[in-house]
Amino acid sequence: MATNVEEQSTVSRPFSSYQAIVVGAGCAGATVARELAERGGRDVLVLERRNHLAGNAYDRLDEAGVLIHQYGPHIFHTSNQRVFDYLSRFTGWNGYQHEVLADVFGTYLPVPFNKYSLRAAFGPERGEALIGKLIARFGDGAKVSISDLRKESDPDLNEVAEYVWENVFLHYTTKQWGKSAEEIDVSVTARVPVFISEDCRYFTDPYQGLPAEGYTAMFERILDHPQITVRTGVDARAVLEFSEDGQVLVDGVPYQGTVIYTGPLDELFGYRFGRLPYRSLDFVFETLPVDQFQPRGTINYTVSEDFTRITEFKHLTRQDVPGQTTIVREYSKDYDPELGMDPYYPEVNEAAQSMHSAYVALAGRLGSFEVLGRLAEYRYYNMDATVANALTLADRLLEDAK
Ligand code: FAD
Ligand code: UDP
Repeated sequence: MATNVEEQSTVSRPFSSYQAIVVGAGCAGATVARELAERGGRDVLVLERRNHLAGNAYDRLDEAGVLIHQYGPHIFHTSNQRVFDYLSRFTGWNGYQHEVLADVFGTYLPVPFNKYSLRAAFGPERGEALIGKLIARFGDGAKVSISDLRKESDPDLNEVAEYVWENVFLHYTTKQWGKSAEEIDVSVTARVPVFISEDCRYFTDPYQGLPAEGYTAMFERILDHPQITVRTGVDARAVLEFSEDGQVLVDGVPYQGTVIYTGPLDELFGYRFGRLPYRSLDFVFETLPVDQFQPRGTINYTVSEDFTRITEFKHLTRQDVPGQTTIVREYSKDYDPELGMDPYYPEVNEAAQSMHSAYVALAGRLGSFEVLGRLAEYRYYNMDATVANALTLADRLLEDAK
């Protein structure tokens, strides 16, 4: 790897000699670091507490030689031309189009629930009649959130809504979020609308796929720049301090550059306004002596099992490993930082948003301190949104410096 990655023990150059310090080497941190170095000509130090780059998109070969995603399956998809063009500088794409099936008492139904799902669930004749009703109400090709569909008074549409709610959303959402599905913000389930279509893809963005050599390789290239230094195995909290008058101190010395922080804000500020609720996950990997375990990349267990979904990586990566395959089961749980868990999903609710706003206000009182990424911004972002925000932040910082 050509990236300038230093072990903590070999560090010599003082923090104050870098014009920017980026905390976190995930999508957000890597992108903004590259932009500040390349377009801004700044010396950038990236601090990452894990022993690897790429944040939650990190992938690696397992013992069987199968390329796995250590922190859960990641499929890149975007409609954002700038983001796609930007990342395409650092990688080719493998063209994978993600498809998901729901296992409903042993029957596989495409998710998002679509025309095929309707025919399979209600039989060809009744399914066709219901498709006709959906088209008449919403238009062919429409995407309708389950919460909107459930508001329909027409008995047929209502029957579809209740079927989909019961068999696709209710149990899965309860497992994933650890509370009653009715309590979950409607924006969460709206990510997976009912799709009046025969398109079985999970995402319909024009750009979709996995980096041809994997995410870690792509992030290594993004961070491979002569003005970027990456220090892994360093928790930024060990070097960052904030004085009463809003000064940022790095290693005890007032810092004149910009700090860009992509970790959880509650943790950074000692939980002084309370803990932000996140969901965490246990990933249980299994390698099996077969070519293929399941017919699609992901099967969602929407009415049974304790885990939410099983993903088989070879579908996603298109890797050819004869006679072996690796799958991962995801078990969702409440996040507890004291038990060494990782925060994966910010919970979308008003109380959490207002606590987060208090942390953002605190960060806003610090000189030249920026909050970026899924954890720090406490938003349910996909990778493309995270990269887009990092590019926008870099635009602003470089513009301000003119
Ligand atoms: P992260 O990837 O979390 O990176 C933050 C980094 O900061 C981490 O490496 C962390 O170790 C480091 N860090 C935090 N605090 C400190 C500290 N104090 N000191 C030093 N380092 C620190 N998106 C998609 O587009 N498609 C998908 O299919 C998809 N699937 C997903 C599946 C799962 C299970 C999860 C959890 C997320 C998924 N996402 C997906 C979302 C995607 O992971 C995020 O959008 C993206 O990783 C956000 O990048 P980030 O840089 O903000 O955060
Ligand atoms: N969801 C569901 N059943 C499914 C798929 C999704 O109930 O088969 C709900 C669930 O609440 C989930 C949300 O829709 O958290 C968003 O799903 P998505 O696939 O976007 O979640 P992610 O990939 O981020 O885990």
